[in-house]
Amino acid sequence: MDRSELELYIHIPFCARKCNYCDFLSFCASSEVQQKYINQLIREIENTSSICRDYHVRSVFFGGGTPSLLEPQYITAVMDAIRRSYRLDKDAEISIECNPTSTLRHKFSAYKKAGINRLSIGLQSANNDELKLLGRIHTFEEFLKCYQGARMEGFQNINVDLINCIPLQTLKTWKKTLKTVLMLKPEHLSVYNLIVEPGTPFAEMNEEGLLMLPGEDEDEEIDAFTREYTEKMGYQRYEVSNFARPGFACRHNIGYWTEVPYVGFGLGAASHFEEFRWSNTRSMEEYLAADLSREEGFSMIRKELHQQTVKEEMEEFMFLGLRLVEGVSEQEFLLRFQKRMDLVYGEQIRKFIRLSLMERVDGRLRLTPRGMDVSNVILSEFLLEEGV
Ligand code: SF4
Repeated sequence: MDRSELELYIHIPFCARKCNYCDFLSFCASSEVQQKYINQLIREIENTSSICRDYHVRSVFFGGGTPSLLEPQYITAVMDAIRRSYRLDKDAEISIECNPTSTLRHKFSAYKKAGINRLSIGLQSANNDELKLLGRIHTFEEFLKCYQGARMEGFQNINVDLINCIPLQTLKTWKKTLKTVLMLKPEHLSVYNLIVEPGTPFAEMNEEGLLMLPGEDEDEEIDAFTREYTEKMGYQRYEVSNFARPGFACRHNIGYWTEVPYVGFGLGAASHFEEFRWSNTRSMEEYLAADLSREEGFSMIRKELHQQTVKEEMEEFMFLGLRLVEGVSEQEFLLRFQKRMDLVYGEQIRKFIRLSLMERVDGRLRLTPRGMDVSNVILSEFLLEEGV
């Protein structure tokens, strides 16, 4: 492992409208707030670079929110700041999350010029009724135009985001969504199961019994179809929710799951750098008020700065590694923690191997394909008691 690699994450918290299921840190904001935010973001990026002097940047990820909502010159300005202040690899993966609105197509050429080489488009469903219910503001037809526009602009690495197990969805409509999208041959596909998060309009509807979610059996059929059909179409599942054509696994995400250090900029962004973890403030007022030319300004925006305990490191090793299809190395666990994995997690490992949800292959412990589908339940049992 190259210990001088670094990943950068840029959080853009703006959205045109809040979707019915969303609990991400995102909201609508005036163009004045957007401009102030970008100026502050650039100060944060530039004034953090001194601690990253010994690192080179292998990936940059603009996430949100909806980064593509911004005027493209803001994205260019942020990329310029990164180039000025960090050692950006020549072949760095630079991704931006986009929502397929009518104006998106006109932004692609500016993205290209700014060095962006990977687009992640949030389609979610190819069924317009499902999109409406999710509270999305685009239609499938708008997505198609954007997708074609991106190809015409020369983007050769495109991810499409989908959500399954959503209200109104049946196995039939999911099959249609997946088949339609894979016909377009995106290089990468992310498929997330809908989670009804507290505090969202969906949670309220659910409490009132108004959310018609697919049943457990249908969920299982949807997951099984996803597994089989993506494989048939030449996509490799490399993580619980991520599928890619050979050579197109997302470098930024893999870095995160294999614990490459990362620094996040902007509202609520998380960082894991050297032995420290921190998260930025979630308050826009506080973020914009901080004087980031001084140390005190950074103390104002960086919250929950703490050094990880061994217990937390072990949990993270398992949580992140087991999401990957290749799983975790027992040897690496031993070297890092001076303890055999079985001594810490023996009970859980035996249980899930007995249920055929986990397996041991060539010194690695990994989830089986069925285990991948219920990974949340399995991973929740890998939390440790205090004092381990
Ligand atoms: S576009 Fe994405 S981030 Fe924005 S509200 Fe919808 S789900 Fe949330």
